Amino acid sequence: MRFKQIIKTTLISVVLLEVITSVVGSEVPRSSVDDKNRGLNIKYRVSNNVEDGAEEDNRAVCEKKSADVVIIGAGYAGIRAAVAIKEEAPDLSVVVLESSNRIGGRAITSKIGGYNVGLGPKWLNEGDSAKRTPTLDLFDEYGLNYVVDDALNMTAFTFSDACTTGKDTGRRLSNSSKLKKAYALLDRVKQDSVIDYSTKKRTVDFLETAIDRKLQNSCVVDQVSQEDIKNYQNRFQNQIMDCVIKKAKKAWANDKSYDDEQGALYEYINCGYDDTDSLEFLMKWFWHDFEFADATGSIYAVFDPWEVSGEAYYTVDGGYAPAIKKYAEENKIEPLFRHRVKSIRYNIRKEDSDVRAGVTVKTNKNKCIFYESQRVISTVSAGVYNNNLIKFKPKLRFNEKKFNPMKINRYLNIWYQFPTKFWEETANQTHWIYTLRNENYDGVSLNWQNLDREGMYPGSKILVLTLVEEGFVKVFGKKYRKEKLPTRKLMKLLNPLKVVFGDKYKKPIKTIYNRFHGDRDFGFGAYSHWDKGYSPYDYFKFWGGYDFGDYINPCNHNGCNGRPNKPNTEWILYLSGAASCLELYEWVHGAWYAGEMAAYLMMESLGIELDDWKGNHPCYES
Ligand SMILES: Cc1cc2nc3c(=O)[nH]c(=O)nc-3n(C[C@H](O)[C@H](O)[C@H](O)COP(=O)(O)OP(=O)(O)OC[C@H]3O[C@@H](n4cnc5c(N)ncnc54)[C@H](O)[C@@H]3O)c2cc1C
Repeated sequence: MRFKQIIKTTLISVVLLEVITSVVGSEVPRSSVDDKNRGLNIKYRVSNNVEDGAEEDNRAVCEKKSADVVIIGAGYAGIRAAVAIKEEAPDLSVVVLESSNRIGGRAITSKIGGYNVGLGPKWLNEGDSAKRTPTLDLFDEYGLNYVVDDALNMTAFTFSDACTTGKDTGRRLSNSSKLKKAYALLDRVKQDSVIDYSTKKRTVDFLETAIDRKLQNSCVVDQVSQEDIKNYQNRFQNQIMDCVIKKAKKAWANDKSYDDEQGALYEYINCGYDDTDSLEFLMKWFWHDFEFADATGSIYAVFDPWEVSGEAYYTVDGGYAPAIKKYAEENKIEPLFRHRVKSIRYNIRKEDSDVRAGVTVKTNKNKCIFYESQRVISTVSAGVYNNNLIKFKPKLRFNEKKFNPMKINRYLNIWYQFPTKFWEETANQTHWIYTLRNENYDGVSLNWQNLDREGMYPGSKILVLTLVEEGFVKVFGKKYRKEKLPTRKLMKLLNPLKVVFGDKYKKPIKTIYNRFHGDRDFGFGAYSHWDKGYSPYDYFKFWGGYDFGDYINPCNHNGCNGRPNKPNTEWILYLSGAASCLELYEWVHGAWYAGEMAAYLMMESLGIELDDWKGNHPCYES
């Protein structure tokens, strides 16, 4: 894409400067005007009268600053939006406001036992044959490592309820010959045509009761055979997923206002998913719950995560954070840290001025600043809107409650580092270790990712446990919002490992976990998924960044906040971020493209002409 022509941009800056100067007189300190990245960063305090658009906060009048474009958030979307503007319209002044003190947003690196791990996103996609993902390019450019993820490489153990209820403290790996013999005998009796009916019934009842009792009262651990795993995987992927995806496609094609849908879980069951079979539960957990951080959700959202976007890679140099930090540095994007946006105003009209919007910020020093601008791009997560953590003035026409299907979910990762690799004997090079109760199974302590593998973090002795929304609620309760998790609970989650590995199991020496559940900057959750009961119309009305021709009326969405009755939107306020890219929502490369698209649409709305990008943009295409 090439920058062709800029209409107004320099003019806008000059006019803005003049307007502000005329308001405050010529003594305006110009100390920060020279800050390239912040553009018209004019700093002054309004004395007695509050300016149009300026906010009062704790009775103190906000300091006032300006920029052509305000971007909220320094994650992948915000940084890409800032760079895209720099590339195409370098004369526009841009300020990036970030609540935390770092670049990356949900991409965060941490250390355990000397190993850099990504606390947020970790998987990287190749892209399809037409388009390589830009995030993969970044990793290559900066020499950051990743390995092919053999997603289906798993070892699974099942165990009976008695292993955890304390009825039986012993642990037996039951290739249990006694049980097998009992089952074989039962089969023979059932098929025998010689024994009379009542003897047969009595014998069958006796054997079944004995088997039940044995299963209930003894702790039996089984390693699921690789053949069984493959069979379950094949059935789930080829029959159930295939069927559910067809239903999703049909929902999109046939009924775009399907408000009373039954939800994804209902459709899985309709497609033959048997939730009374523990191994089938495991497959569904892996294919759906683990990907979407949610066991249910909407049929509109279902796709096969292991089939889309080409090869999946696992990042091993601290996840996604280093790449976006380097990209921001290289492009000289310097966000203003510890600047938390409290409210967004997007209806400012000043005569002879291009100012249309403004955001009120609280800094860590409790200072209030009002940034006025022509345009605002918000890249905060859906969770921030879900919890009304930013106020809109005026209220959004298509508001959060009624129209936004994207609901934030919890996705807790806990890294445990052990003194020994006690799983070596049985699951040495497998990627996933599953510990699954035969009955009363749930998504708690189910899925352990083995990082101690060639190409990953060999020698690390680290397993990562994941709990998604339902499992999280089960352990910590529905309303849990503290960042710190109770140590007792973190240790209790290890019980299935003790059961499965018996005497070999050793207590962890280090534990870390991600804290999205307790962080308001992410709306108290990790990433969002399409909730049931919302139609695509709702989605478009809330997020607004699409032009589907007749599908959604122009100007009938939140992005259309220009002059009333103006046929084309002005995009004064643009709700961007990963949740806003329909085709790729909540992927990191989706966030990248979402920020890019916001920047393009916004620049076009300022009269800046760009090469045609719409036909070839992953977020813009339907
Ligand atoms: C645990 C986890 C695992 C994931 N796994 C993967 C994966 O494997 N692969 C993948 O592709 N994707 C994954 N994702 C999703 C991916 O991380 C996100 O979709 C993507 O990083 C979002 O980028 P963003 O820029 O849209 O938003 P964010 O990264 O959330 O950036 C928004 C920024 O806004 C800031 N902010 C919030 N409120 C305010 C405010 N009021 N004022 C100022 N600033 C504010 C935040 O601090 C943040 O820096 C995962 C996410 C999580 C949490």
